[in-house]
Amino acid sequence: MSESRAFCPRCGDAVPERSASDADGGPDGTASERASGHANDPLRPGAEVELCDSCYFEDFDFVDAPERIDVRVCSCCGAVHRGKRWVDVGAEDYTDIAIEEVSEALGVHVDVEDVAWQIDPEQVDQNTIRMHCYFTGVVRGTPVDEQVTVPVKIARQTCTRCGRIAGDYYASIVQIRAEDRTPTTEETERAEEIANRIVADMEETGDRNAFVTETSETPDGLNIKVSTNKIGKKIANKMVEEFGGTVNDAETLVTEDEDGNEVYRVTFAVRLPPYTPGDVIDLEDDGGPVIVRSARGNLKGVRATTGERYEASYEEGNSPEARRLGTLEDAVETTVVTVEDDNAVQVLDPETYQAKTVARPDYFDPDAETVPVLKSRAGLHVLPDERDD
Ligand SMILES: [Zn+2]
Ligand SMILES: [Zn+2]
Repeated sequence: MSESRAFCPRCGDAVPERSASDADGGPDGTASERASGHANDPLRPGAEVELCDSCYFEDFDFVDAPERIDVRVCSCCGAVHRGKRWVDVGAEDYTDIAIEEVSEALGVHVDVEDVAWQIDPEQVDQNTIRMHCYFTGVVRGTPVDEQVTVPVKIARQTCTRCGRIAGDYYASIVQIRAEDRTPTTEETERAEEIANRIVADMEETGDRNAFVTETSETPDGLNIKVSTNKIGKKIANKMVEEFGGTVNDAETLVTEDEDGNEVYRVTFAVRLPPYTPGDVIDLEDDGGPVIVRSARGNLKGVRATTGERYEASYEEGNSPEARRLGTLEDAVETTVVTVEDDNAVQVLDPETYQAKTVARPDYFDPDAETVPVLKSRAGLHVLPDERDD
C-alpha cells in the first residue's frame, strides 16, 4: 500500500517497507537504547523512522577496536593484570594472552548477524604482538567484512604474589615438634604434603594469596612458613587430627600496614605425642611391654606378652609414664623351637642362639617356623608379624 510508505529522515528518499519484526522496538519507543539505524522523525517527535540503506551504511561501523592494548603480565607466573587485580588466565604464552585480551577489547555492531572472525598474530618484537583480525557478517541482508589491526603491548612485571614469594613474605609459621623426641621422617614428610595440599586446594578456588614460603628442618623438627594465618592453622589442625598431640598458637606483632592496622604473625606450635604407632614401650606396670597402635587421644596398643588391648587413662592421655624399648622395625626374625602351652613358647635367642621360653601372645601363629622378636631391657618378646608378604 503506497500510503504507508516511509521516507528516510536524513535524505528524504523513500524507504521500502520493512516488516514489524525487522524494525526493532516499536513506534512507542520503549527501548531506551537503540542500535543505530533509527532516527527521530522531526514531524512526529517520539516516533522513529529508519534510515535508508545508503544513509545507514554511511554511519555503519562494523568493528569497534582500540588503537592499541597494553597488557601487564607477570613474567614469573603469567598472571595478567585486569582492573585492579592480578588474575591467572592459564595462558600458555604471550600470544595466548594477547588473543584473549583482544577478544575482550573488540566490539562488534549489534545489528550484525552471523559474525565470524579470525585472528592472525604477528610477533613484532619481544613485547609487541600485532593482531590482524578479520571479521565477516551480515547486516540488512548485505554481507559486510572488516579488517582491523591492533597492536598488543606486553609489559612484563611482577605480580603481588610473586613479589611476596620472592621477598620471602610469610604471615604464619607452623612448627612441627614432638614430645621427648624429634618428629619422624614420616611425620615431617606428611606435614609438608599437607601444607602443599592445602595451598593447592586454595589456589584451585582462585585464591592467589596462598603459598608456602619456606620449609626448613631444625634440630628439633620442621618449620613451615606460609602466606596466611588461615593456612597455618589448617596445617596444624590437620597434623593433630592425623597424629594426635596438641597445638598452641602465639601472636607476634610484626608491623602496621598502610592503614595503621596492626599486623600479627601467628606461630602454630604442633606438639606431637611422645610415642608413635609401632613403638614398643614399657609402662613398668608388670603387664609387659605395649606395642603402640594409636597416639590420637589416649594412647592405645596391645601387650607383647598376651596380645591384650591396652588403653591409657584419660589423665595419662597420649603420654603415660613409660620408656621406649624399640619399634616394630627393630624386631629380628628368629626360629620357633617349640610351642609349650597356651601361654608359653620356646624361641631361639637371636643373640645367643639358646632356646628360651617366652610369653605367648594371642597374635602368635602356632604354625609359624619363625617369628619377629624384640630383645630389650625388658627381655625377649614375640612381636606381631607385620611384614608385607
Ligand atoms: Zn537516506
Ligand atoms: Zn606472578
